[in-house]
Amino acid sequence: MPPTELNVQRDPSCEDDFDDASLSANDARVRILNNVAVISGEHRVPVRDSLRRYLSRDIHSPVNVPQQTNSAMDGYAIAGNDLPSTGTARLDVLGTALAGHPFEGVFRPGGAVRIMTGAPMPEGCDTVLMQEHVEHNGDHITLDHHHKIGQHVRAAGEDLKAGQQVLPAAHLMNPADLGLVASLGIGEVHVHRRLRVAYFSTGDELRSIGEPLGVGQIYDSNRYTLYGMLERINAEIIDMGVVGDSKQAVADAFAAASQMADVVISSGGVSVGEADYIKGVLADLGQVGFWKVAMKPGRPLAFGLLGDAAFFGLPGNPVSVMVTFYQFVQPALTKMAGGVVRQWLTCEATVTETLKKRPGRVEFQRAAMSRDHRGRLLVTPTGDQGSGILRSMSSADCLIVLPIDSAGVDAGSVVEIQPFSDFM
Ligand code: AMP
Ligand code: MG
Repeated sequence: MPPTELNVQRDPSCEDDFDDASLSANDARVRILNNVAVISGEHRVPVRDSLRRYLSRDIHSPVNVPQQTNSAMDGYAIAGNDLPSTGTARLDVLGTALAGHPFEGVFRPGGAVRIMTGAPMPEGCDTVLMQEHVEHNGDHITLDHHHKIGQHVRAAGEDLKAGQQVLPAAHLMNPADLGLVASLGIGEVHVHRRLRVAYFSTGDELRSIGEPLGVGQIYDSNRYTLYGMLERINAEIIDMGVVGDSKQAVADAFAAASQMADVVISSGGVSVGEADYIKGVLADLGQVGFWKVAMKPGRPLAFGLLGDAAFFGLPGNPVSVMVTFYQFVQPALTKMAGGVVRQWLTCEATVTETLKKRPGRVEFQRAAMSRDHRGRLLVTPTGDQGSGILRSMSSADCLIVLPIDSAGVDAGSVVEIQPFSDFM
């Protein structure tokens, strides 16, 4: 990092971080984004290795694309001056031009060269007749007057001129980009180094897979969803395991994580009852604000800086972890990794059930999309919306976003949804 200004604390007039005044989800996102900066460090990598990485420099084309003026059709290359204005004309076939095998003879007016798609235009030709539109008899062709000079020709540099920008810095490389860059003969590109993200779960009740469960104990699932979400965005992952609810253990974990990583994520321990000792620990290590965000799920959230690392203290409930990750952490990580933060892709759909809600918080409900017989987009909640219920998240392919003032919607209403395809 480091950020230019730090404004992570809530309104200074708020004595208590957990008073009733809460931050809107949008304000929280803006504050977080304003307090993180792109990490330093770039690598020069072979084109294939740039997949899912952010470019750290613009890419310019070293060549014209296409390199040579060539035919867009199978047919005959001719000089446009030989096109008849009325009736028909007869032209002598002088030879052949194939892709990879240019015409080697000398073109002259009154002639035609048999040409295949992609083959370079012979010098002196500027027009291609589609083979279906001429009559070919022995060594000549006959054409009518329904042709235009310059037709069916791809000009050199028509797609890209040498020196022109092909992809800008901050672009996220996708499969088409790999092909595009390869088509220019570029073998290596500059990308930002990957973000290093350390995370751990907090809670005395948590057990790892393989351990027996005692009374009141549960398996830690947050480190698995976090793994999946971080893997999806191509971060370097440091899994620090489960940390018990003791001041010393938490202090050690935060200190170690902030040394190793650009980003530290914890889950659990940020709700009103639990946060006090975590707050104390973090006050020694950095600057962290505890926020009550007006959203459901995911109301408590901690954010700040631990040394040079950005810190996100996510709620413990498994669905809250995922929703707060996608609303707050992912945009910040995108910026830090060197990318451009975009708005979520949202769309409108007709909800098939009545949704209950109280005004005061934005609500994200897990749901699945479908279409009715007319092709209209429908959306149906995937079951119980409790913030600990991962099953309804697992069977969802979108979130329904109910705005802060909404008091619920009737079945048949149009609602805003965020499809997961954009990020999951
Ligand atoms: P907390 O935010 O620590 O109060 O946790 C809220 C709820 O989420 C509690 O029911 C926890 O048991 C549960 N929880 C916390 N961390 C995890 C985890 N890593 N995996 C599954 N459930 C968790
Ligand atoms: Mg806990």
